[in-house]
Amino acid sequence: MKKSNYLKLHPWKIIEEGFNPTKVKSSESLFSIGNGYMGQRANFEESYSGETFMGSYIAGVYYPDKTKVGWWKIGYPDFFAKVLNSPNWIGIEININDQDFDLNKCSRIEKFKRVLDLKKGFYLRSFEAVLKDKTRVYIESKRFLSMARKDIGMISYKIKSINKKCLIKLKSYIDGDVSNQDSNWDEKFWNHKEKETKDNFAALKSKTLKTSYEICTFMQNELYLNEKIKTEKPKIEIKKNRISHNFSSELDKNKSLSLVKCGGYVTSINHSSVNFKKTHELSKEAMDLGFDFLLNEQKNEWEKIWESSDVSIDGDIKAQQAIRYNIFQLNQTFTGEDERLNIGPKGFTGEKYGGGTYWDTEAFCFPFYLATKGRLAALNLLKYRYNHLEKAIQNAEKLGFTNGAALYPMVTMNGEECHNEWEITFEEIHRNAAIAYAIFYYENFTNDKSYIQKYGLEVLIGISRFWKQRFSFSKEKNKYVLLGVTGPNEYENNVNNNWYTNYIAKWCLNYSVKQERNIRENNKTDYKRILKKTGLSKKEIEKWEEIAKNIYLPYDSKRQVFLQQDGFLDKEFKFVDEIPINERPINQNWSWDKILRSPYIKQADVLQGFYFFEEDFTKEELRTNFEFYEPLTVHESSLSACLHSILASKLDKKEKAYQFFLNASRLDLDDYNKEVMEGLHITSMGGAWLIISKGFGGMKINNGFFSFNPKLPSKWNSFSFRVNFNGSILTIKTNKKETTYELTGDKPISLISSGKKITVEPKTN
Ligand code: BGC
Repeated sequence: MKKSNYLKLHPWKIIEEGFNPTKVKSSESLFSIGNGYMGQRANFEESYSGETFMGSYIAGVYYPDKTKVGWWKIGYPDFFAKVLNSPNWIGIEININDQDFDLNKCSRIEKFKRVLDLKKGFYLRSFEAVLKDKTRVYIESKRFLSMARKDIGMISYKIKSINKKCLIKLKSYIDGDVSNQDSNWDEKFWNHKEKETKDNFAALKSKTLKTSYEICTFMQNELYLNEKIKTEKPKIEIKKNRISHNFSSELDKNKSLSLVKCGGYVTSINHSSVNFKKTHELSKEAMDLGFDFLLNEQKNEWEKIWESSDVSIDGDIKAQQAIRYNIFQLNQTFTGEDERLNIGPKGFTGEKYGGGTYWDTEAFCFPFYLATKGRLAALNLLKYRYNHLEKAIQNAEKLGFTNGAALYPMVTMNGEECHNEWEITFEEIHRNAAIAYAIFYYENFTNDKSYIQKYGLEVLIGISRFWKQRFSFSKEKNKYVLLGVTGPNEYENNVNNNWYTNYIAKWCLNYSVKQERNIRENNKTDYKRILKKTGLSKKEIEKWEEIAKNIYLPYDSKRQVFLQQDGFLDKEFKFVDEIPINERPINQNWSWDKILRSPYIKQADVLQGFYFFEEDFTKEELRTNFEFYEPLTVHESSLSACLHSILASKLDKKEKAYQFFLNASRLDLDDYNKEVMEGLHITSMGGAWLIISKGFGGMKINNGFFSFNPKLPSKWNSFSFRVNFNGSILTIKTNKKETTYELTGDKPISLISSGKKITVEPKTN
C-alpha cells in the first residue's frame, strides 16, 4: 500500500513541518497526548474553520448508546458503550487587531511545525502567520497532560508580534457543548449543572446521562506580558455551557504575550467528591508550582518510563522513531496503575471502537505492560477481567448458557457485551481463550502462582464451562466440534471447526484441569473457597478432560497444513498479489459476499495458534503453514503484521520479518491504511513491541526462566530492549558480533543466551 511521508525522521521526536490543511485531522491523531487517565487529540487551541475532529476523553467515562441494528436478534446487547467526548478545556480564541484568528483564513502561514517530544512527554506547535491586514505574528503553544498529576494538563501559549504593534484579545475558555461524531441517535450525553468562576479560575460541573459520572472541568489562567505576569483579572463571559476568561493587551513590535493555562477534570471515578473547592485547590497548586516546574516533573516521569522500556536501534532511524512512538503511545493510554482501566484499540485518539476493551489487550498488549511496567501493571489487567467475571457469566446466560459458563465480551466497558453483529458477538468466541492465555502468560513470566489461587482459577472455571457447553459431539467424526464460529480472520463467518478456536479451546480446558489439580493438591483453603463459590464438581473436570482429548482439529495431510476451517480447501485459491491494486483493501472495495467466498485472510488465524503455542510445533510445521497461509493474507487488520513478523523471524525470513516490522510499527506514522485521521492503532503498537522482544529478540519464557536468541535485522548495526523483572531491569543488547546483558537491580539473573546458560550480575555503580 502507498505510504505518505509527511513527517520528519528523528530518534526521539515526531515532527511535522509546513501547514497542510488536508493533514490537520491526521496530525490531530498522530500528535495526540494522554496520561492514562485522560487524553486528547492534538486539536488547535484557537478556533479553526477547516476540517477538524475534536476529541478529549476521560478514561472510564462512557455512555451506553442504545444499539442500532437493522434486524434485531435475541442475544444482542442493548447498548454500545462509548467513551465520551468530554468538555473542551484547551480552547483559546484569539483576536488580533480586530481580526478573529483562524489558521484556515490567514493570508500566509510560514514555518508551521508540530513536534511531539517522546523523551520529555510534551507537544509543541509553532508558526508564523500573516493576517489579512499584513500583521505578522509568531505563535507557539506547548502542551502536556501531566503523568505525575492525573487530573491536570498545562498549556503555555505565546503570541509575538513581528512587524507591528497589535491589540490582542484572548478568550481562554472551557466548553461543555461537545458531542460524539459516532453517536447512534444524536442523543445528548452530558447534563451540565453548575458553573463557578472566581478570579482566574473557572469550572463547569457536568454529569453523564444514564451512567451518572460526575466531572468538573476546570481552567486557571495567567497572563504574561514580556515574560512578566499581568495581575489584572479577566473579564468573565458565560454563554450556555461555555465560560470564557477574556484578556486584552497591546503588544509592541517584537514583544510577546503569553497565557499559561492549567486545565483538566476532577471526576467521580478518581475522587470521592467532585466539588469546586477541591478542583480549585488542584489547579492553584499547579499554577503556583508553575509551567516550567511541572514540565520538568513531566520529563522526570517519562525518564522513569523509558528506563524500563526503551528500545534503541542503531542504523535505522525509521525503525527507531517508530518503536519509540509506539511505546510512548502505549504508555499514554494505560499506566498500569488502575485495575478499572484498560487499553482501547484507539486509546484516547478517536471514537472508533468506542474506547472499549477487546481481546487485543490480552493477545497483543499484555506482554508489553508486563515486561516493561512490571508485575503489578499486569495484575491490574488480569484483575480487570476477574472483576468482570459475573458480567461474563451473564453474557453467556443471555445466549442460553448455564451453570456459571462465562463468555467474555468482544468489546466492553463495564463487562457487558457491546458488540452487535451476530457473526462477531455470538461467534467470535476465541476471545474467551485469550483471557485464559494471559493468565498463563503471567504465571509463566513471573512464576507467581498466587494470582491463579486467589482469582484466576475462578475465571478459568467460567471459561471452561463455556467451552464444555459450546462444543457439540459429532457422531460422524466421533469428535467434539465447534460449529458456527468466526475465527480471528473475520473474513469468514459462521464456519465449522475453525482450527485456531478448537486448538486454543482444547489448550484452555487442559490448562484449567492442570490448575485445578495444582490448587486442589497444594492449597486447600483457597480450593475450599473456590469450590463453595463455583460449585465445581469432579465430574465436570473429568468431562473437560474427555472433551479436550477428543477435539476435532482439521488437517490436510497432503499439504501438511492445519485447515483454517472445515471446507477451506474448496475455495478457489488465488494469491493476494493477484488482486488488482485498485481493489485493495478488499474490505473497502468488495461486497461482503465476495469477501466471504474468497480465500483471503484478514489477519493471522491458523498462524495465531502457531504464535501462541510455538512450543507445540516443529519449525517445519511452522514453515509449511506459514508458506500456505501468508500468501493468502491481506493483512487488513492492524493486528496482522506483527504476528507475521515474529513468525517470519523464527523461519529466518529476515527481510520479510523486517518489512512486517515496519508495517506494524509505522502503520500510523506512514498512514498505510489512509485512515489515521480516525485515530491511532494503539493495540497494534503492543504487537510492534512483541516483534522487538519475541521476533528480533527471540525472547522465550518458561516458568520464570528466560532465553534470548536475538536476530539482528541486516539494516541495523545494533539494537537493545529492556525487560522489567520485578523491578530489576535487564537490557539485552545485540550488535553484529554478540549479545550482551546489563542488569540494574540487586539480584543476579540466570538465563539462556543463544543456547548457552549464563548468569547476569547486577551492574555496580
Ligand atoms: C480485528 C479484531 C480486533 C479489532 C479491534 C478488528 O479489525 O479483526 O481482531 O479485535 O479490530 O482492534
